[in-house]
Amino acid sequence: MRKFDLVVVGAGIGAGSLVFNLLKQGFTGSILVVDRGDKIAFGATAFSAGGFRNLWTTEINQQLCTLGIAKLKSFQSDMGVSCGFDQSGYLFTYYAKAWEKIPAAAEIWARNGVNFELLNPEQIEAKIPGMKCGVDHMDEEVREFLGFEPIVGGVFGKDCGAFDPSQAAVGYFERAADFAAKPTLQLHTEVVKVLFDAKGKATGVVLKQEGSAEETVEAGLVALCNGSHVNQLMKRSGLPESDLCPIIAQKRMMFITDFPGHPNEDERWHKIPLTIMDQGIYFKHESGNLMIGKARPDEPDSFDTTFEPDYYRDEVNLPMQERIPSTAVCKLKSGWGGLYDTNTADHNAIVGWHAEHEGLMLQVGYSGHGAMESPAVGICLAELILHGAYRTIDCAPLRWSRFREGALVKETIVI
Ligand SMILES: Cc1cc2nc3c(=O)[nH]c(=O)nc-3n(C[C@H](O)[C@H](O)[C@H](O)COP(=O)(O)OP(=O)(O)OC[C@H]3O[C@@H](n4cnc5c(N)ncnc54)[C@H](O)[C@@H]3O)c2cc1C
Repeated sequence: MRKFDLVVVGAGIGAGSLVFNLLKQGFTGSILVVDRGDKIAFGATAFSAGGFRNLWTTEINQQLCTLGIAKLKSFQSDMGVSCGFDQSGYLFTYYAKAWEKIPAAAEIWARNGVNFELLNPEQIEAKIPGMKCGVDHMDEEVREFLGFEPIVGGVFGKDCGAFDPSQAAVGYFERAADFAAKPTLQLHTEVVKVLFDAKGKATGVVLKQEGSAEETVEAGLVALCNGSHVNQLMKRSGLPESDLCPIIAQKRMMFITDFPGHPNEDERWHKIPLTIMDQGIYFKHESGNLMIGKARPDEPDSFDTTFEPDYYRDEVNLPMQERIPSTAVCKLKSGWGGLYDTNTADHNAIVGWHAEHEGLMLQVGYSGHGAMESPAVGICLAELILHGAYRTIDCAPLRWSRFREGALVKETIVI
């Protein structure tokens, strides 16, 4: 029987950061990384918008993202692999009621050394070609139907931006392979279940590789970095409902269009910040195109990732052209659906040891911010494995047991 000191389920950016940082910090044990896909970054990592921001109101998200951004900024020089780091900023726009809460958040950001600017409508319009913060240009019935109000202010995060999480994941695994104790990466392989002894300690996994019989592998530790599939695996492993994570799988789609006015578009489109506008529509520039997203609020718990071009036409482009009339002509070129591992309790990651199962580590539930946080989380989880405690950032607020302790991590101002 094969034996490993650590078996990691999943080969996305979360697993990559954990494995690389563990080896970097001196772990000399044997590591097996298993993914059902045919490549590194087969799950959410491949479908991510890759946005990163340090504009948060909880200390833990603030700290993780600040460190994460620093790691991504020096990724190319540290890792020898580009991760497409682009610090074009984040622009959040607000209606009057939400804007009232910004001074309190601004105090938190200022205290934490966040590099941000508060913008008035004219300054917002100067950043996004053709954007109209007012509502006078809109048909009153349409405006009412869409629930649009005037945008009265914006927050511009100067250190924010976007990167390519798949490239970062590949970089982590490439550099991990440079260590003497280089991990074994096994693709095309499903982790069928995690094995536990009578006391609930994780002791191994059962694997099923395409075209082969099931194999039992002994493990000193098991780390679940398998995103939206975590509960499916925990249930198959025989864990009771009370031991699962409050996580559902939710489809999120991204849409790629050309810029308004293409091919003679306003040059400023190439430099726009990642912008969040009415109804949670967000967009950024992406290799000469616009990348646009909007979460469907009532998306069911499902592994379905079918791409729906009609959703772009009806629910994304129609509202968007009210705010930025020139986007009416944007042509949908492509798009995709991916899965959020949405934590329904507080929309934050679940990281660290499982309180009921010794040897079972969790890094799941990122709820749409795992690309930007996992570079820092990997460092912290490596410390937890090697030293038995967090050293760089105390990730205890993100522990699995917070749900039953009623210690949720709530962003006080949702931005
Ligand atoms: C459309 C979209 C936009 C996003 N935008 C952003 C953003 O702007 N900023 C941001 O920070 N984050 C964003 N995210 C979230 C971010 O991409 C994820 O949080 C991050 O990629 C999670 O990485 P991971 O390694 O934890 O999980 P994943 O990348 O999902 O990796 C999990 C892996 O586990 C494997 N797996 C699952 N179950 C098994 C099993 N039983 N056996 C073997 N293998 C298994 C899967 O094949 C997969 O490769 C977005 C996500 C989506 C879908």
